[in-house]
Amino acid sequence: MTALLEVKDLRVSYGKIEAVKGISFTVNQGEVTTLIGTNGAGKTTTLRTLSGLLKPTAGTIVFDGAPLNAVPAHKIVSLGLAHSPEGRHIFPRMTIEENLLLGAFLRKDTPGITEDVERAYTLFPILGERRKQAAGTLSGGEQQMLAMGRALMSRPKLLMLDEPSMGLSPLMMQKIMATIVELKAAGTTVLLVEQNAQAALSLSDTGYVMEIGRIVLTGTGADLLHDESVRKAYLGED
Ligand code: ATP
Repeated sequence: MTALLEVKDLRVSYGKIEAVKGISFTVNQGEVTTLIGTNGAGKTTTLRTLSGLLKPTAGTIVFDGAPLNAVPAHKIVSLGLAHSPEGRHIFPRMTIEENLLLGAFLRKDTPGITEDVERAYTLFPILGERRKQAAGTLSGGEQQMLAMGRALMSRPKLLMLDEPSMGLSPLMMQKIMATIVELKAAGTTVLLVEQNAQAALSLSDTGYVMEIGRIVLTGTGADLLHDESVRKAYLGED
């Protein structure tokens, strides 16, 4: 197993508040790895730090064999790390196609970009059907597809998805989860943050449970799904 991302003793603070209190975890090449945990556990803070949007106060991040700590956010994308943020952040007045193309802003290979836009439309046909429409006309689930499609436009080695199922209908959520499985089959490594522990762990090779800034439990997705404390805390069982 090759580690694509290795995080060691990472600490991140907002002023005096330490949101991430020394976490270590690994994302293996070709796998789906999930961080689960309740609101405020520090999952989003972790992804934002990996993307270079927040600076860690301590710890090391090694991505694809090289340290990421001192690399600015815009360079991190070019190293192969893409982030589909919580809340999606699509541009509602721009068309679907324009939103996708923004994900390729660092690339100059026009034929490759066109190919990848088409690939996004194959992955999510609704985006292709509505390519010339304003992205703001899409439903929440469709906007999530667009956010994922846009993140894929940089041809990332690692795709980070922050709560892709948030606010979606069960059917739409299934579609998003099925797409993650498809992406993995096509060779993309995925780091997923989810509140929907059942859905996320079911498709994860490895899971980490976060509580108030710390990782408290690690295992395979299947192990964590069957873990009694996880079932009680995250799957609503007594
Ligand atoms: P959620 O699912 O609600 O996004 P999370 O696990 O992703 O939860 P974070 O958003 O990373 O958690 O938040 C971790 C902690 O950091 C929380 O206590 C939160 O209140 C705090 N925090 C997050 N953003 C800021 C900020 N900009 N300024 C100050 N504190 C923040």
